[in-house]
Amino acid sequence: MFVDLLHNICILLLRRYRNKGNHMSTKYCNSCEDDATCPNFHAYIIELDRSVLDETNFPYEGELPLDKKVFYVGQTNHSVECRYFQHTAHRSEDNQYDCTCNLGVNPNNKIVRRSFPKRVTYVNRKRDNMLFAKELFAPNLFNLNYNNPTVIKALPGSGLTYIGSAKDESKKSEEIETAIGEQLRSMGHAVYWN
Ligand SMILES: [Zn+2]
Ligand SMILES: [Zn+2]
Repeated sequence: MFVDLLHNICILLLRRYRNKGNHMSTKYCNSCEDDATCPNFHAYIIELDRSVLDETNFPYEGELPLDKKVFYVGQTNHSVECRYFQHTAHRSEDNQYDCTCNLGVNPNNKIVRRSFPKRVTYVNRKRDNMLFAKELFAPNLFNLNYNNPTVIKALPGSGLTYIGSAKDESKKSEEIETAIGEQLRSMGHAVYWN
């Protein structure tokens, strides 16, 4: 009995140790790790406060049923967490933030100062700093059949790149963003994507 217990504890510890050595994905991407993001494309879904329907010209006609939600769908080659930060963070005077993402040029995840991208009004309105973003989701929300990374980038020198391949990868990522947006819309939600 005691030996069995000891045996089980040993297996648990071993598993934990192995998991540490192996890959630990994040909540939003199977290939990203907390301290080492993957260089691939990601999709994400942000739930927005319903007030965005009245406060802005959000593209939705009619009265949104109470059991439906408002979403923004995006795609990025940053980590989903970093992109959400860019969407929602308070912007300091120099309009820059710390990014440690591996965009293909930062494989060691060093801290790089980057300029915030243009704000998306429906997520974080500039005029009055109105934050409509409520919660961040991976693209498998409601069992949608999408997982991160959505598009795996071919590594330079792998023999898998060709002229225009980076453009094609980025286009594919945008197509997946659109497909997610359209599926959410077909479920009756109010959805915007770029
Ligand atoms: Zn990733
Ligand atoms: Zn980043």
